[in-house]
Amino acid sequence: MAVIWNPWHGCQKYSAGCAHCYVYRRDESIGKDASFVEKTASFDLPLQKKKDGSFRLPLGETVFACMTSDFFLEEADAWRPEVWRMVQKRPDISFSIITKRIVRMADCLPSDWGEGYAHVRIGCTVENQEEADRRLPVFLSLPIRRRFIICEPLLGPIDLTPYLSSAIEQVVVGGESGPGARLCRYEWVLDLKRQCLEHQVSFHFKQTGARFEKDGKIYRIPRKEQQKQAQKSGLNKKSL
Ligand code: SF4
Repeated sequence: MAVIWNPWHGCQKYSAGCAHCYVYRRDESIGKDASFVEKTASFDLPLQKKKDGSFRLPLGETVFACMTSDFFLEEADAWRPEVWRMVQKRPDISFSIITKRIVRMADCLPSDWGEGYAHVRIGCTVENQEEADRRLPVFLSLPIRRRFIICEPLLGPIDLTPYLSSAIEQVVVGGESGPGARLCRYEWVLDLKRQCLEHQVSFHFKQTGARFEKDGKIYRIPRKEQQKQAQKSGLNKKSL
């Protein structure tokens, strides 16, 4: 089971995929303004220790960073160097960083990054063709050792074929959740799976989202069922 590490909280809406951001929805429900960005009590989690002196995050842990913000958010520029230092001090942990702001990454790297820290995976989110064509050429040009692509919330068909190669570890796909969720179509997901199979890239359909269309029928799927339904779709089998 992976651990989530949110060194800061809050974000600014950035592209079409942000329209129904779950961070905004969740914060609004408790009367909070998600556009206010602040450091959290977990800021130094990778270096926090227990009473016995051992790290709270044990050797071999998998950590997803910045799940209530964006790692390359402008407001976090002053805090990020310290976060990189903590990441660098824990090569025994696998860190996954997911971002829509890949175009900022080159300006936000630590001086010892080189070809990339071996224990850091970078995930570039693309929700539609326009963002895929804008972000993925940048993503592929950066010094990163482990890359994956996240098409979530998937808002339309995407042709990823110009960007799929052995440089991409995996493509993860999901629909949009929440009351105003936009439609996700089975055909779009199936097509991404085909592309991944053709290019021998691992594919994972994570969740359907709240409104999923298959064979002309629209299904409203409650949050707790969205992962199960994605699994039931059969799209995560190795073949078509
Ligand atoms: S980048 Fe992510 S966290 Fe930030 S507003 Fe967009 S969806 Fe929300």
